[in-house]
Amino acid sequence: MISLTSDTETKPTHAMRQAIANAEVGDEQKGEDPTVNRLLERVADLLGKEAALFFACGTICNFVSIKTHTRPADVVLAEQMSHIIRAESGGAALTSGVLMEPIASERGIFTVDAIEQALGRVATAPYLYSANPRLLCVEQTHNFRGGSVWRLNELREVCEFSRQKGLATHMDGARLLNAVVASQTQAKDFANCVDSVWIDFTKGLGAPMGAVLAGTREFISEARRYKHIFGGAMRQAGIIAAGCLYALDHHVERLQEDHDNATYLARRLSEIEGITVQDTKPDTNIVFFDVSQLGIDKGMFLTLLQQYGVKMGAVGQSIRAVTHLDVSRADINFAVDTVSKVTKFLGSAALKAERRDCEISNIKLLFAS
Ligand SMILES: *Cc1c(COP(=O)(O)O)cnc(C)c1O
Repeated sequence: MISLTSDTETKPTHAMRQAIANAEVGDEQKGEDPTVNRLLERVADLLGKEAALFFACGTICNFVSIKTHTRPADVVLAEQMSHIIRAESGGAALTSGVLMEPIASERGIFTVDAIEQALGRVATAPYLYSANPRLLCVEQTHNFRGGSVWRLNELREVCEFSRQKGLATHMDGARLLNAVVASQTQAKDFANCVDSVWIDFTKGLGAPMGAVLAGTREFISEARRYKHIFGGAMRQAGIIAAGCLYALDHHVERLQEDHDNATYLARRLSEIEGITVQDTKPDTNIVFFDVSQLGIDKGMFLTLLQQYGVKMGAVGQSIRAVTHLDVSRADINFAVDTVSKVTKFLGSAALKAERRDCEISNIKLLFAS
C-alpha cells in the first residue's frame, strides 16, 4: 500500500530508532532531560528565539500559544482554511474561550487589506459591544491551501501591520522547514516576523512524535504553566526528542525530494483526462485535485484507489495527496498509473448513464472483469 494521505504517515527509519534507543534521558517536566534540553537549544537557535518548549504534538502548541497570548472573549484572526480553525476540534474555543475571525484568502497567503477587512468586521473602534482582537495567526506552509509558502516580504508586511494594530503574532509552523527548503530562506528570518512559532517533527521530518514551540523567555515561561495545566508535561521524553534531533540532522535537506515528487505528481495527474489539478506547480509537498468531472463522488474514487493499493485523503471537496520520506519516485509512478486506470474505467462508456451510481462493490466487480 502506498500512502499519500499525509506526510504524517512516515515511519521512523532504522537509524532513527537506533538514536531513540540510545537516548540519554531525565525528567522533562523538571527541565532535567538532557536530550530534550539539547533539542530545545537547537530549535531556539534555529528559530532565533530566546527559549523553547517541548510538546508531544503540534495541536497542543497552538492551544498553549493561543492561551498564552489571549484572554477569554478575545478575538483570534486566522486564515479561513487554517488548521487552527478547521482541524483542531474547536479546541481554541474550549481551552481559551476565544472567538475565531476567519481571514479570506485564495492560497492561505493573505494581505494587509484582508486583515483590515477582518478587523473592520470585529471592531471599528474601542466600543463596549465589540470583542477585542488580540492575536493574528499565520500558517507556514499552508496545509489546506496546497502547502503554499509565505514569502518573507509578504509575511513581514502582515506581521508589522498586525503589531501596529496591537495584535500579537503566532506562526503555526508545522511545515516551516518545508518553506525554508523551498524558498531558500532561513528559518530564523521567517520566525523573526512573529512572537511565537512552533515546528512539527511528525510531518515531513519523519519522527514518530514531537513538536517544539519557541518565543521570548517570558512567553515560554508562561506557556510552560499551560503546558502543565493541559497535561502536556512529560518525564523521560528524551526518547522522543532523540528522534527529533535525528530528523534535524538527516531529514531537512531531503525535503527537496518530496517537493520535486509533488511537482512531478501534479504534472502527471494534470495529464489525465477528467482530473483537475489545483496547482500544477505546488510550492512544497502537497497536491490537491478534483474528480468532479468524472461525475463520481470523491469518497467512491478514494475507495477504488485504495482497493488498487493507493491511499489518498479528502479535504473539503478535493482530494489531497502528500509526498514524504516513505514514498519514492517509483511509488509516485505507481500512484499515477493507478489514478489513470481508475479514471479511464470511470470515464468509460460502460459506466456512463445508469451504472454510474451503482454501489462500490459493483464497480469493483466491473473493474476486475
Ligand atoms: C499537522 C498540523 C498541525 C497539528 O500537528 P499535530 O502534531 O498533528 O498535532 C497543526 N497545523 C498544521 C498546519 C498541520 O499541518
